[in-house]
Amino acid sequence: MGILHTHFILPLTEPERHAGLPGRLRQIKKFERMSERQQRKVQQDRLRKLLEHAYTTVPFYRRQFDSAGFHPREARVDHPLPLPVLTREDLRTAATWLVSSAFPAEKLRVALSGATHRMPTRFHRDIEGVRDKVALKMKLDEWAGFRAGDSAMMLWGAISDAAREFNWRWRVDEGVFMRQTPPPPGIVGIEVLEKWRWRYEKQRPKILYGRATVLAAFAGYLRERGITHRPNAVISTAEVLSLQHRRLLASVFKSAPFNYYGRRDVGMIAAECSEHEGLHFHPWSSFVEFDPIAQSPDGPVYRVLVTDLLNYGQPFIRFDTGDCVTLTEQSCSCGRWFPLVGKILGRLDQNSIVANGAVVPNVTFNDPWNSMKTPVQPVLALPARRKRAVSRPAQKKRAMSA
Ligand SMILES: [Zn+2]
Repeated sequence: MGILHTHFILPLTEPERHAGLPGRLRQIKKFERMSERQQRKVQQDRLRKLLEHAYTTVPFYRRQFDSAGFHPREARVDHPLPLPVLTREDLRTAATWLVSSAFPAEKLRVALSGATHRMPTRFHRDIEGVRDKVALKMKLDEWAGFRAGDSAMMLWGAISDAAREFNWRWRVDEGVFMRQTPPPPGIVGIEVLEKWRWRYEKQRPKILYGRATVLAAFAGYLRERGITHRPNAVISTAEVLSLQHRRLLASVFKSAPFNYYGRRDVGMIAAECSEHEGLHFHPWSSFVEFDPIAQSPDGPVYRVLVTDLLNYGQPFIRFDTGDCVTLTEQSCSCGRWFPLVGKILGRLDQNSIVANGAVVPNVTFNDPWNSMKTPVQPVLALPARRKRAVSRPAQKKRAMSA
């Protein structure tokens, strides 16, 4: 990671999101160097601390925990939490009852849930939680070889990005200091793709980063027109990365893309490591449960329930993301035990996913798949089958290189 950027440039030029960044990165690095047993212990301590905080400072959770006869000290990371799920409807209706009384207003930041939702929801984060999430995102970037200060071209293709590009401060921070270049904004068509191609070949970015469908459109265009530069890494986020698009990106850029999983409400919490065998949920930042909801040709489909370990301003406990995944039975060759998701299938409420990873509008779970007849308890991960023996020193070496 570029120490100049993480220790000086970012904390000084944008303290709102980067104050204390070196210490936060050190904390994550220390966590990643621990043994599996120690990491699980730390995760459990962090889970209990968050739940204790929620119980004592958030009226919504105090009532919920009492109704369930649950006390935070009973929480274990090897068991599902015996609590109801938190829904988006709860976020709307409970509103301020979900906000912690421990923070004055100036320590909280308000945000909106994803623009893809029909009814975006307001929620809060405490400022330290925001900064922790920024640090974690940088750590996940590091898995892909993307370090602060590396030249990167961002491909969003959203009209709303136009406003950001004309913001002088954003240009200075992201463009000059971070060497991150947003492409010309606009609806993705031939004209825009050509502008992107011209800029891409001129700037030759080390990292290509963007929405899955936009990256795929760009890759398809480059394949037709020719390509002379290949980035070190292609990072896909914000959308389902279908198998078809994954193959296209790998074929055009000559390297497997890195898929990320993140949401505006809980932040970036899972990413592929260099082995590309699935997405790891990082246990420093979240405690994840997988709730089985349907069968698919690829095996059971689970919805993702997230307990966010970083946001104390408005705790998200067993938050029903509505996102559906399949789990992989094998552990990753990198040696990490972190919960491993085989495929991110998409959002349940958008009815737009099928089990092979393709996106199909208006396909419901009841159509290609059979709903589970028998209720099944949520799981924390499938019991991993070791693909091949990895010696402890090798594991440690790999973990340290992350
Ligand atoms: Zn891995």
